[in-house]
Amino acid sequence: MTSSVETATGPIDASELGRVLMHEHVFVISTEIQQNYPQEWGDEQHRIDDAAARLRELKESGIDTILDPTAIGLGRYIPRIQKVAEQIDLKIVCATGLYTFNELPHYYRRRNTSDADALTSHFVQDIDQGFGNTGVKAGVIKCATDKPGLTPDVERVLRACAQTHRETGCPITTHTDAETERGLDQQKIFLEEGVDLTRVVIGHCGDTNDLDYLQRLLDAGSILGMDRFGIDGYLTTEQRVEVVAHLCEKGFADQLVLSHDASCYIDWIEGEVPLAPLPNWHYLHISKDVIPALLQAGVSDEQIDTMLVDTPKRFLGSQSLGGY
Ligand SMILES: [Zn+2]
Repeated sequence: MTSSVETATGPIDASELGRVLMHEHVFVISTEIQQNYPQEWGDEQHRIDDAAARLRELKESGIDTILDPTAIGLGRYIPRIQKVAEQIDLKIVCATGLYTFNELPHYYRRRNTSDADALTSHFVQDIDQGFGNTGVKAGVIKCATDKPGLTPDVERVLRACAQTHRETGCPITTHTDAETERGLDQQKIFLEEGVDLTRVVIGHCGDTNDLDYLQRLLDAGSILGMDRFGIDGYLTTEQRVEVVAHLCEKGFADQLVLSHDASCYIDWIEGEVPLAPLPNWHYLHISKDVIPALLQAGVSDEQIDTMLVDTPKRFLGSQSLGGY
């Protein structure tokens, strides 16, 4: 059965996704600050060309697609992503959803009635009609739960994502704080809302080597995002590789996906990527360093393909299979 996946350059067949990094940003931007203080961002065309060059290099390293989970709250601007995507062969899957650790933007706070949450309306619109007038449709739904946990607004975002998923069949990918086991909070809300947890990537699971926590998430059926290779502050690459190799050995390769959570430009930290404090935090670390290290640690070529090709295809291609 064929199934299509929406990308920044239009729908493609899921079989064309190839090797996928399942959590990479192109730009992470504090929009209102950049609009008022544009000196650091500089020339728009330069930033677009720089992103295209970095993604072309990624394609040459053997990666065919990235899932860019840049939702509202992270500076998403699809017309700019389109300009990058038009220059390159690598495919970019874009996200609806909202990223907050605490509160919603004021825009949404009063726009909620018992049968119509403005969040859900926007998310469904991004999936069914596309982002604004771009013609680009969302291929995934994104939300976040960090140290503050299920604040009232975070819970509202999670429920809106779940309802959007049920209405559209679009899969969900998340940000979590692994140390405080936020993935379990997300699974609880999603289950209450009737989400099939096999259609959810619990993000940033690679930030911990607490195998009990990871096992509980796996047992509930979700896919684990081993998706922050290069962010050494949580775990080093060596430690991250060890956890992935262990879970592969236990037979869970088909519930793991790989990524860096890197970007071409992120204004949260001063400087150009790769940032001085995080030399491995760039798009090429997995292709150049992590895959050889995984093979060295006993992971098979077949398991690498499962994590980079088969599971992303199953996850992203499931939207048009119906069943909801
Ligand atoms: Zn991210």
